[in-house]
Amino acid sequence: MKYPCNLIQDLLPLYHDGVCSEESKQAVEQHLSECSVCKDTYTSLSEPSELLPSPQDSERERKKAASFRAVKKRILKIQIFVGVSVFVIVAVLSMFLVGFMKTSEQVISYEDNISVLMTDDGLIGRLQGNQANYLKLKRVDVENGDVTNAYLFFYLSGTKWDSLVTSDAVFSEYTLCPTDKGATQIDCVFYYTGDYTGMETMNESELQTIIDTSILLWEP
Ligand SMILES: [Zn+2]
Repeated sequence: MKYPCNLIQDLLPLYHDGVCSEESKQAVEQHLSECSVCKDTYTSLSEPSELLPSPQDSERERKKAASFRAVKKRILKIQIFVGVSVFVIVAVLSMFLVGFMKTSEQVISYEDNISVLMTDDGLIGRLQGNQANYLKLKRVDVENGDVTNAYLFFYLSGTKWDSLVTSDAVFSEYTLCPTDKGATQIDCVFYYTGDYTGMETMNESELQTIIDTSILLWEP
């Protein structure tokens, strides 16, 4: 043998990959034809190693990773879409709700929040913790022989929004009867709690029923 085994074995990887010189190649081939030890080493080099993934395996892994990334991306897209949708729906609903509360007029119910007082300007209704947009008034004069009794009924209406945002520290005032319109002739003032559509048209025969269901707020 022309060359020692260790030299040939050093050259085997280069020979296997076909990157050694023509001289080395011939030396290796000649040695392999004579040395079974080096030939075995060369054979084991040529066999595919089971530890390394085959090209097909790594291709499969790459595809798996790619599809996993695609699924993750789709899930993220869906999550963003759902998040944005929920935000938009909540925003639109809130706008509608606020709009509804700002425009829906309702009678302000009596809960110890309304009082009446006589001032120099006349009879004033005082509302706590809310703002009324409308004041409905009805004065009923009942003649009893020489005496005329004057009953004043009223109710206030406002929006749900105002009742929510107005603090209890806020008072709003409403003129029920100015002094020059005969405030001093009024015998009693009631907060009307009956059928609100009927107050305008009520007649004397209904008066007692209405007095019974209304809240007396002021008497001289
Ligand atoms: Zn050898």
